[in-house]
Amino acid sequence: MADKDCIFCKIAAGQIPCNKIYEDENVLAFLDIGPLSDGHTLIIPKQHYTRMHECPPQVVACIGSVLPKVAGAVFNVLAPDGYNVLCNNGRASGQLVEHLHFHIIPRKAGDGIFTQWPAHKYPQGRVEKLAADIRAKL
Ligand code: 5GP
Ligand code: ZN
Repeated sequence: MADKDCIFCKIAAGQIPCNKIYEDENVLAFLDIGPLSDGHTLIIPKQHYTRMHECPPQVVACIGSVLPKVAGAVFNVLAPDGYNVLCNNGRASGQLVEHLHFHIIPRKAGDGIFTQWPAHKYPQGRVEKLAADIRAKL
C-alpha cells in the first residue's frame, strides 16, 4: 500500500534517494534531510499509514523490533548525552510528512532542542475520569 504523492513512499520504493541506515522487508531507516542534530534518523514502515492509531499492530511491531538496533548504532557513532525517540501524529503535533515515522534525535546537554514542556496539574477528579474514558475505548 503506497500513496503516490507521499515522499516517504517514494523513498521506500527507491524512487527518491536517501542515506540508508537499515532496510528489511517491512521497515526502512535513513538519515533525516533536515536534522535537528547530527545522526538524526527516521524509521518508517514501507507501507503507507499516516498516524499510529491507523497502523496495524504487526507493522508497529516491525518498527519496534528494529528501533533498539538502529538507536544503538546511532548512539555508538554519535555518543550523544541522550536521545529522543519521537513520533509526531497529526499537524498540530508537528507532523509534516503524513507517513508514519519515528525520529531518533541524538541530544547534547543544553542543545536547546525541545526547550518547552508545559506540564500542568489536573483539576480534582479529571484524571480518574479521563483514565476511565480512555480504558473504555481500548
Ligand atoms: P515530521 O515533522 O513530519 O515529524 O518530520 C518529517 C521529517 O522528515 C523532517 O524532520 C524532515 O526533515 C524529514 N524529511 C522530509 N522530507 C525528506 C526527504 O525527502 N528525505 C529525508 N531524508 N528526510 C526528509
Ligand atoms: Zn507514504
